[in-house]
Order: sequence, then C-alpha cells, then structure tokens
Amino acid sequence: MSDCLFCKIIAGEIPADIVYQDDTALAFKDINPQAPVHFLVIPKKHIATLADAEDDDELLLGHLLRVVTKLAEKEGYTEPGFRTVVNTNAGAGQTVFHIHVHLLAGRPFQWPPG
Ligand code: AMP
Ligand code: ZN
Repeated sequence: MSDCLFCKIIAGEIPADIVYQDDTALAFKDINPQAPVHFLVIPKKHIATLADAEDDDELLLGHLLRVVTKLAEKEGYTEPGFRTVVNTNAGAGQTVFHIHVHLLAGRPFQWPPG
C-alpha cells in the first residue's frame, strides 16, 4: 500500500530503528515509547487491521507472536513479564492501519488498560 506508513518503513523509504527482520516480519522501536522497551512487530504483508486478516494469514499472525516472544526473551523480559497489545480500529486506539503488535516491557503494567 503506497500510502501506508509501515509499508514505507518496510520499503526503506522512511527510517526506523529496526531490531529484527525476516522474510515475513519486521520489528522496530516505537517512535513514541510508552515503556523502556517498546517495539512494534509487523507483517511485511500489508493487512490494515486484525479484523481484515483472513484464514490464510493464520500462520503469519502466529509468527508475529513468536517474534514478540523471542524479542522479549532476548531483552530479558520474559520475567517479570511483558505486555503485548494489538489495537484494532480507531475506537480501540489504532492510529496506523497496518497490523502491528506492540511489545512493551521494563516497567510494571496495570490491568485493566486505559
Ligand atoms: P496504534 O495506536 O496501536 O496504531 O500504534 C501506532 C504506533 O506507531 C504508535 O505507538 C506510534 O508511536 C507508532 N509510530 C507512528 N509512527 C512511527 C514511526 N515513524 N516509527 C515508529 N513508530 C511509529
Ligand atoms: Zn502497510
């Protein structure tokens, strides 16, 4: 998608602090971190929201969670714990319409979230 911010990051047209990538996923530091560690893990395939994913995307969606888990482990945050968030559509706080899993760690987290 030519007008998608995260597709532009994937294409290298907009800079990002990339922490991981493979054939199907990319992870980079959030530009406005909400925790000492705040990464975004995205599919290289453009899918606007979780609600737009299809059955064929099942492996890809699972892969994103495996990338999150490995990054959290690498950063040493499996314990005490880390927060993963996927905001879906504007009412839930989604502002960039390319699926992304937030990985937040390095501070205590509250429940329920705001
Ligand atoms: P959401 O509100 O769930 O759609 O999350 C979008 C996230 O993208 C926010 O946490 C933003 O801080 C982050 N963001 C927006 N632009 C950039 C960028 N150019 N590089 C890295 N993160 C970004
Ligand atoms: Zn995109």
